[in-house]
Amino acid sequence: MRPYLFSFKIGGVVVRAEPSWLFLALLVGWSLAVGFFPDQNAALETSTYVFMAILGVFGLTFSIVAHELSHTFVGRAFGMPINRVTLFMFGGAAELEEEPKTPMTELVMALAGPLMSLLLALVFSQLAGLDMTGGPQAPLAMVLAYLGLINLLLAMFNMLPAFPLDGGRVLRAIIWMASGNRRRATRWASLAGEAFAVFFIVAGIFVLLSTGSLGGLWWVLIGLFLRAAAKSSRVELETRVALGEVRAADLVTPGIETADAGMSVADFIADKLVRHHRDWFAVTESGRLVGSAGLAEAQAVPVAARASTPLASIAVRPGPQHLLPAGARADQAFAQMQRHHLQRLFLVDGERFIGVLSLADLLEYARLRNLFADAQLG
Ligand SMILES: [Zn+2]
Repeated sequence: MRPYLFSFKIGGVVVRAEPSWLFLALLVGWSLAVGFFPDQNAALETSTYVFMAILGVFGLTFSIVAHELSHTFVGRAFGMPINRVTLFMFGGAAELEEEPKTPMTELVMALAGPLMSLLLALVFSQLAGLDMTGGPQAPLAMVLAYLGLINLLLAMFNMLPAFPLDGGRVLRAIIWMASGNRRRATRWASLAGEAFAVFFIVAGIFVLLSTGSLGGLWWVLIGLFLRAAAKSSRVELETRVALGEVRAADLVTPGIETADAGMSVADFIADKLVRHHRDWFAVTESGRLVGSAGLAEAQAVPVAARASTPLASIAVRPGPQHLLPAGARADQAFAQMQRHHLQRLFLVDGERFIGVLSLADLLEYARLRNLFADAQLG
Protein backbone atom coordinates (compact mmCIF):
# COMPACT_ATOMS: atom_id res chain seq x y z
CA MET A 1 0.00 0.00 0.00
CA ARG A 2 1.17 3.48 -0.86
CA PRO A 3 1.31 5.97 1.99
CA TYR A 4 -1.38 8.66 2.00
CA LEU A 5 -1.30 12.05 3.74
CA PHE A 6 -4.78 11.43 5.02
CA SER A 7 -7.59 9.04 4.34
CA PHE A 8 -11.16 8.98 5.64
CA LYS A 9 -14.48 7.43 4.72
CA ILE A 10 -17.68 9.33 4.01
CA GLY A 11 -20.93 7.68 2.89
CA GLY A 12 -19.06 4.52 1.87
CA VAL A 13 -16.51 6.48 -0.20
CA VAL A 14 -12.81 6.57 0.71
CA VAL A 15 -11.28 10.05 0.39
CA ARG A 16 -7.50 10.11 0.42
CA ALA A 17 -4.56 12.34 -0.51
CA GLU A 18 -1.40 11.19 -2.22
CA PRO A 19 1.88 12.65 -0.92
CA SER A 20 2.10 14.85 -4.04
CA TRP A 21 -0.92 16.75 -2.70
CA LEU A 22 1.45 18.30 -0.15
CA PHE A 23 3.38 19.90 -3.02
CA LEU A 24 0.22 21.63 -4.30
CA ALA A 25 -0.78 22.63 -0.75
CA LEU A 26 2.64 24.17 -0.05
CA LEU A 27 2.77 25.94 -3.42
CA VAL A 28 -0.71 27.42 -2.97
CA GLY A 29 -0.06 28.30 0.68
CA TRP A 30 3.21 30.01 -0.15
CA SER A 31 1.78 32.05 -3.02
CA LEU A 32 -1.18 33.11 -0.87
CA ALA A 33 1.03 34.13 2.08
CA VAL A 34 3.66 36.11 0.14
CA GLY A 35 1.69 37.26 -2.90
CA PHE A 36 -2.07 37.08 -3.13
CA PHE A 37 -3.05 38.35 0.34
CA PRO A 38 -0.28 40.98 0.87
CA ASP A 39 -1.06 42.38 -2.61
CA GLN A 40 -4.62 43.17 -1.46
CA ASN A 41 -3.80 44.49 1.97
CA ALA A 42 -0.19 45.22 2.87
CA ALA A 43 -0.95 46.37 6.43
CA LEU A 44 -1.24 42.98 8.17
CA GLU A 45 1.26 41.02 10.29
CA THR A 46 3.29 38.25 8.63
CA SER A 47 1.79 35.72 11.06
CA THR A 48 -1.71 36.82 9.97
CA TYR A 49 -0.83 36.16 6.31
CA VAL A 50 0.47 32.70 7.23
CA PHE A 51 -2.68 31.93 9.19
CA MET A 52 -4.86 33.17 6.31
CA ALA A 53 -2.87 31.03 3.85
CA ILE A 54 -3.35 27.92 5.98
CA LEU A 55 -7.11 28.61 6.13
CA GLY A 56 -7.08 29.11 2.36
CA VAL A 57 -5.34 25.77 1.77
CA PHE A 58 -7.82 23.95 4.01
CA GLY A 59 -10.69 25.68 2.22
CA LEU A 60 -9.25 24.69 -1.16
CA THR A 61 -8.89 21.07 -0.03
CA PHE A 62 -12.48 21.09 1.18
CA SER A 63 -13.64 22.62 -2.12
CA ILE A 64 -11.90 20.02 -4.28
CA VAL A 65 -13.15 17.12 -2.13
CA ALA A 66 -16.70 18.53 -2.36
CA HIS A 67 -16.34 18.77 -6.17
CA GLU A 68 -15.19 15.15 -6.47
CA LEU A 69 -17.77 13.84 -4.01
CA SER A 70 -20.46 15.56 -6.07
CA HIS A 71 -19.34 13.51 -9.12
CA THR A 72 -19.17 10.43 -6.91
CA PHE A 73 -22.59 10.56 -5.28
CA VAL A 74 -24.40 11.59 -8.48
CA GLY A 75 -22.60 8.74 -10.29
CA ARG A 76 -23.56 6.27 -7.56
CA ALA A 77 -27.19 7.40 -7.83
CA PHE A 78 -26.95 6.27 -11.49
CA GLY A 79 -25.57 2.91 -10.40
CA MET A 80 -21.90 3.66 -11.15
CA PRO A 81 -19.48 1.83 -8.85
CA ILE A 82 -17.26 4.67 -7.55
CA ASN A 83 -15.63 3.99 -4.20
CA ARG A 84 -12.63 6.31 -4.05
CA VAL A 85 -11.70 9.95 -4.35
CA THR A 86 -7.98 10.71 -4.57
CA LEU A 87 -6.25 14.07 -4.25
CA PHE A 88 -2.90 14.55 -5.96
CA MET A 89 -0.57 17.24 -7.28
CA PHE A 90 -2.95 18.52 -9.98
CA GLY A 91 -6.21 18.35 -8.04
CA GLY A 92 -8.56 15.47 -7.39
CA ALA A 93 -10.18 12.55 -9.13
CA ALA A 94 -13.25 10.41 -8.50
CA GLU A 95 -12.07 6.96 -9.54
CA LEU A 96 -14.46 5.31 -11.96
CA GLU A 97 -14.28 1.53 -11.99
CA GLU A 98 -16.49 1.20 -15.05
CA GLU A 99 -17.48 3.55 -17.83
CA PRO A 100 -20.99 5.06 -17.87
CA LYS A 101 -23.42 2.90 -19.84
CA THR A 102 -25.39 5.80 -21.32
CA PRO A 103 -24.40 9.30 -22.49
CA MET A 104 -26.99 10.79 -20.14
CA THR A 105 -25.29 9.20 -17.11
CA GLU A 106 -21.96 10.55 -18.28
CA LEU A 107 -23.37 14.03 -18.92
CA VAL A 108 -25.10 14.42 -15.55
CA MET A 109 -22.18 12.94 -13.64
CA ALA A 110 -19.66 15.21 -15.41
CA LEU A 111 -21.75 18.34 -14.76
CA ALA A 112 -22.22 17.52 -11.06
CA GLY A 113 -18.64 18.55 -10.14
CA PRO A 114 -18.51 21.99 -11.75
CA LEU A 115 -22.03 22.73 -10.49
CA MET A 116 -20.85 22.02 -6.94
CA SER A 117 -17.89 24.37 -7.48
CA LEU A 118 -20.25 27.09 -8.76
CA LEU A 119 -22.48 26.60 -5.72
CA LEU A 120 -19.45 26.87 -3.40
CA ALA A 121 -18.31 30.00 -5.27
CA LEU A 122 -21.68 31.58 -4.51
CA VAL A 123 -21.70 30.48 -0.88
CA PHE A 124 -18.14 31.65 -0.13
CA SER A 125 -18.73 34.98 -1.89
CA GLN A 126 -21.92 35.52 0.13
CA LEU A 127 -20.09 34.66 3.36
CA ALA A 128 -17.29 37.07 2.39
CA GLY A 129 -19.96 39.77 1.88
CA LEU A 130 -21.48 39.09 5.31
CA ASP A 131 -18.09 39.40 6.97
CA MET A 132 -17.49 42.92 5.65
CA THR A 133 -17.88 44.38 9.17
CA GLY A 134 -14.16 44.91 9.19
CA GLY A 135 -14.28 46.04 5.54
CA PRO A 136 -13.37 44.02 2.45
CA GLN A 137 -9.76 43.89 3.69
CA ALA A 138 -10.54 42.08 6.94
CA PRO A 139 -8.53 38.82 7.04
CA LEU A 140 -11.47 36.39 7.16
CA ALA A 141 -13.36 38.26 4.42
CA MET A 142 -10.23 38.07 2.23
CA VAL A 143 -9.91 34.30 2.72
CA LEU A 144 -13.62 33.75 1.97
CA ALA A 145 -13.41 35.96 -1.11
CA TYR A 146 -10.38 33.95 -2.27
CA LEU A 147 -12.33 30.69 -1.83
CA GLY A 148 -15.24 32.16 -3.78
CA LEU A 149 -12.87 33.10 -6.59
CA ILE A 150 -10.96 29.81 -6.63
CA ASN A 151 -14.20 27.79 -6.82
CA LEU A 152 -15.35 29.90 -9.76
CA LEU A 153 -12.00 29.26 -11.48
CA LEU A 154 -12.24 25.53 -10.68
CA ALA A 155 -15.68 25.37 -12.30
CA MET A 156 -14.44 27.24 -15.38
CA PHE A 157 -11.19 25.28 -15.79
CA ASN A 158 -12.94 21.94 -15.39
CA MET A 159 -15.55 22.88 -17.99
CA LEU A 160 -12.91 23.28 -20.73
CA PRO A 161 -13.85 20.71 -23.40
CA ALA A 162 -10.56 18.88 -22.82
CA PHE A 163 -11.02 15.20 -21.99
CA PRO A 164 -10.47 13.88 -19.30
CA LEU A 165 -11.53 17.18 -17.69
CA ASP A 166 -15.26 17.38 -16.89
CA GLY A 167 -15.98 19.56 -19.94
CA GLY A 168 -14.31 16.92 -22.11
CA ARG A 169 -16.64 14.30 -20.67
CA VAL A 170 -19.59 16.60 -21.40
CA LEU A 171 -18.32 16.97 -24.98
CA ARG A 172 -17.94 13.20 -25.27
CA ALA A 173 -21.47 12.60 -23.96
CA ILE A 174 -22.92 15.10 -26.44
CA ILE A 175 -21.08 13.58 -29.44
CA TRP A 176 -22.07 10.12 -28.19
CA MET A 177 -25.73 11.20 -27.95
CA ALA A 178 -25.70 12.85 -31.37
CA SER A 179 -23.84 10.11 -33.24
CA GLY A 180 -24.72 7.03 -31.20
CA ASN A 181 -21.05 6.09 -31.58
CA ARG A 182 -19.16 5.87 -28.30
CA ARG A 183 -15.79 5.14 -29.91
CA ARG A 184 -15.94 8.17 -32.17
CA ALA A 185 -17.08 10.36 -29.26
CA THR A 186 -14.11 9.17 -27.17
CA ARG A 187 -11.69 9.79 -30.01
CA TRP A 188 -12.85 13.37 -30.66
CA ALA A 189 -13.07 14.34 -26.98
CA SER A 190 -9.56 13.07 -26.24
CA LEU A 191 -8.17 14.79 -29.36
CA ALA A 192 -9.64 18.04 -27.99
CA GLY A 193 -7.97 17.22 -24.65
CA GLU A 194 -4.59 16.75 -26.30
CA ALA A 195 -5.01 19.99 -28.29
CA PHE A 196 -5.73 21.98 -25.10
CA ALA A 197 -2.75 20.33 -23.44
CA VAL A 198 -0.42 21.46 -26.23
CA PHE A 199 -1.92 24.97 -25.98
CA PHE A 200 -1.16 25.07 -22.21
CA ILE A 201 2.40 23.93 -22.79
CA VAL A 202 3.06 26.51 -25.53
CA ALA A 203 1.32 29.31 -23.59
CA GLY A 204 3.24 28.36 -20.43
CA ILE A 205 6.59 28.46 -22.22
CA PHE A 206 5.63 31.84 -23.72
CA VAL A 207 4.76 33.28 -20.29
CA LEU A 208 7.92 31.81 -18.77
CA LEU A 209 10.18 33.29 -21.47
CA SER A 210 8.46 36.66 -21.82
CA THR A 211 7.82 37.50 -18.16
CA GLY A 212 10.11 35.10 -16.32
CA SER A 213 7.12 34.22 -14.14
CA LEU A 214 7.25 30.76 -12.60
CA GLY A 215 3.48 30.62 -13.11
CA GLY A 216 4.34 29.75 -16.72
CA LEU A 217 6.17 26.65 -15.55
CA TRP A 218 3.02 25.55 -13.70
CA TRP A 219 1.02 25.77 -16.94
CA VAL A 220 3.66 23.71 -18.74
CA LEU A 221 3.36 21.04 -16.02
CA ILE A 222 -0.45 21.09 -16.20
CA GLY A 223 -0.24 20.77 -19.99
CA LEU A 224 2.13 17.80 -19.75
CA PHE A 225 -0.10 16.15 -17.17
CA LEU A 226 -3.26 16.78 -19.20
CA ARG A 227 -1.62 15.41 -22.35
CA ALA A 228 -0.58 12.17 -20.61
CA ALA A 229 -3.99 11.92 -18.92
CA ALA A 230 -5.86 12.45 -22.20
CA LYS A 231 -3.89 9.66 -23.82
CA SER A 232 -4.04 7.16 -20.95
CA SER A 233 -7.73 7.91 -20.30
CA ARG A 234 -8.47 7.28 -23.97
CA VAL A 235 -6.60 3.96 -23.95
CA GLU A 236 -8.27 2.88 -20.72
CA LEU A 237 -11.70 3.97 -21.87
CA GLU A 238 -11.33 2.24 -25.24
CA THR A 239 -10.18 -0.88 -23.41
CA ARG A 240 -13.27 -0.84 -21.19
CA VAL A 241 -15.60 -0.17 -24.15
CA ALA A 242 -14.11 -3.11 -26.07
CA LEU A 243 -14.27 -5.41 -23.04
CA GLY A 244 -17.84 -4.34 -22.28
CA GLU A 245 -18.96 -5.99 -25.51
CA VAL A 246 -17.74 -9.49 -24.68
CA ARG A 247 -18.29 -12.15 -22.05
CA ALA A 248 -15.40 -13.02 -19.76
CA ALA A 249 -15.94 -16.70 -20.55
CA ASP A 250 -15.08 -16.03 -24.21
CA LEU A 251 -11.65 -14.67 -23.27
CA VAL A 252 -10.51 -17.48 -21.01
CA THR A 253 -6.83 -18.15 -21.60
CA PRO A 254 -6.69 -21.29 -23.76
CA GLY A 255 -4.44 -24.20 -22.91
CA ILE A 256 -4.16 -23.51 -19.18
CA GLU A 257 -3.32 -26.90 -17.66
CA THR A 258 -4.82 -27.81 -14.35
CA ALA A 259 -3.14 -30.00 -11.75
CA ASP A 260 -5.09 -32.56 -9.76
CA ALA A 261 -5.27 -31.85 -6.04
CA GLY A 262 -4.59 -35.53 -5.25
CA MET A 263 -1.16 -35.74 -6.93
CA SER A 264 2.02 -35.54 -4.85
CA VAL A 265 4.24 -32.46 -4.86
CA ALA A 266 7.00 -34.62 -6.41
CA ASP A 267 4.73 -35.58 -9.33
CA PHE A 268 3.57 -31.98 -9.62
CA ILE A 269 7.17 -30.84 -10.05
CA ALA A 270 8.07 -33.56 -12.58
CA ASP A 271 4.83 -33.85 -14.59
CA LYS A 272 3.56 -30.31 -14.46
CA LEU A 273 6.12 -27.62 -13.60
CA VAL A 274 9.07 -29.09 -15.50
CA ARG A 275 7.29 -30.84 -18.37
CA HIS A 276 4.96 -27.95 -19.23
CA HIS A 277 7.59 -25.33 -18.33
CA ARG A 278 4.93 -23.16 -16.74
CA ASP A 279 5.46 -21.76 -13.25
CA TRP A 280 1.84 -21.71 -12.15
CA PHE A 281 -1.18 -24.06 -12.24
CA ALA A 282 -4.81 -24.06 -11.16
CA VAL A 283 -5.34 -26.95 -8.71
CA THR A 284 -8.65 -28.80 -9.11
CA GLU A 285 -10.39 -31.77 -7.56
CA SER A 286 -12.96 -33.46 -9.85
CA GLY A 287 -13.65 -30.21 -11.67
CA ARG A 288 -13.84 -28.10 -8.51
CA LEU A 289 -11.34 -25.31 -7.91
CA VAL A 290 -9.11 -25.91 -4.88
CA GLY A 291 -6.60 -23.13 -5.43
CA SER A 292 -3.36 -22.46 -7.26
CA ALA A 293 0.19 -23.75 -6.88
CA GLY A 294 3.48 -22.93 -8.50
CA LEU A 295 7.22 -22.94 -8.22
CA ALA A 296 7.38 -21.05 -4.92
CA GLU A 297 4.92 -23.35 -3.13
CA ALA A 298 6.60 -26.53 -4.47
CA GLN A 299 10.09 -25.36 -3.53
CA ALA A 300 8.97 -24.59 0.00
CA VAL A 301 8.35 -28.31 0.61
CA PRO A 302 11.54 -30.13 1.80
CA VAL A 303 12.89 -32.53 -0.88
CA ALA A 304 12.42 -35.63 1.32
CA ALA A 305 8.76 -34.79 1.97
CA ARG A 306 7.73 -34.05 -1.65
CA ALA A 307 6.68 -37.62 -2.55
CA SER A 308 4.37 -37.91 0.46
CA THR A 309 2.89 -34.39 0.43
CA PRO A 310 -0.38 -34.00 -1.54
CA LEU A 311 -0.62 -31.00 -3.82
CA ALA A 312 -3.90 -29.99 -2.13
CA SER A 313 -2.02 -29.20 1.07
CA ILE A 314 0.21 -26.56 -0.55
CA ALA A 315 -2.40 -25.03 -2.89
CA VAL A 316 -3.08 -21.35 -2.20
CA ARG A 317 -6.82 -20.93 -1.58
CA PRO A 318 -8.47 -18.21 -3.68
CA GLY A 319 -10.23 -15.32 -1.93
CA PRO A 320 -13.53 -13.89 -3.22
CA GLN A 321 -11.53 -11.22 -5.09
CA HIS A 322 -9.86 -13.98 -7.19
CA LEU A 323 -13.17 -15.49 -8.36
CA LEU A 324 -15.36 -14.32 -11.21
CA PRO A 325 -18.84 -15.76 -11.93
CA ALA A 326 -19.19 -17.46 -15.32
CA GLY A 327 -21.74 -14.97 -16.68
CA ALA A 328 -19.63 -11.82 -16.03
CA ARG A 329 -18.65 -9.40 -18.77
CA ALA A 330 -14.98 -8.91 -19.56
CA ASP A 331 -15.02 -5.27 -18.43
CA GLN A 332 -16.21 -6.41 -15.00
CA ALA A 333 -13.23 -8.77 -14.89
CA PHE A 334 -10.94 -5.88 -15.87
CA ALA A 335 -12.39 -3.64 -13.13
CA GLN A 336 -11.93 -6.42 -10.54
CA MET A 337 -8.29 -6.93 -11.54
CA GLN A 338 -7.61 -3.19 -11.35
CA ARG A 339 -9.35 -2.85 -7.99
CA HIS A 340 -7.36 -5.66 -6.37
CA HIS A 341 -4.13 -5.31 -8.40
CA LEU A 342 -4.43 -8.86 -9.78
CA GLN A 343 -2.88 -10.38 -12.91
CA ARG A 344 -5.47 -13.15 -13.28
CA LEU A 345 -8.88 -14.36 -12.11
CA PHE A 346 -10.51 -17.78 -11.82
CA LEU A 347 -13.73 -18.08 -13.76
CA VAL A 348 -16.14 -20.30 -11.86
CA ASP A 349 -19.70 -21.51 -12.28
CA GLY A 350 -20.69 -22.09 -8.67
CA GLU A 351 -18.12 -24.63 -7.49
CA ARG A 352 -17.14 -25.68 -11.01
CA PHE A 353 -13.84 -24.37 -12.39
CA ILE A 354 -14.13 -23.02 -15.94
CA GLY A 355 -10.81 -21.40 -16.67
CA VAL A 356 -8.27 -18.68 -15.99
CA LEU A 357 -8.62 -15.12 -17.24
CA SER A 358 -5.37 -13.17 -17.49
CA LEU A 359 -4.93 -9.39 -17.56
CA ALA A 360 -2.46 -9.65 -20.45
CA ASP A 361 -5.02 -11.51 -22.57
CA LEU A 362 -7.76 -8.98 -21.77
CA LEU A 363 -5.51 -6.08 -22.76
CA GLU A 364 -4.35 -7.78 -25.94
CA TYR A 365 -7.94 -8.59 -26.94
CA ALA A 366 -9.02 -4.97 -26.38
CA ARG A 367 -6.02 -3.62 -28.30
CA LEU A 368 -6.74 -5.76 -31.34
CA ARG A 369 -10.48 -5.13 -31.13
CA ASN A 370 -9.91 -1.37 -31.17
CA LEU A 371 -7.31 -1.60 -33.91
CA PHE A 372 -9.81 -3.21 -36.24
CA ALA A 373 -12.72 -1.06 -35.10
CA ASP A 374 -10.64 1.94 -36.25
CA ALA A 375 -9.96 0.35 -39.62
CA GLN A 376 -13.69 -0.03 -40.20
CA LEU A 377 -14.52 3.51 -39.10
CA GLY A 378 -11.86 4.97 -41.41
ZN1 LIG B 1 -14.69 17.31 -11.92
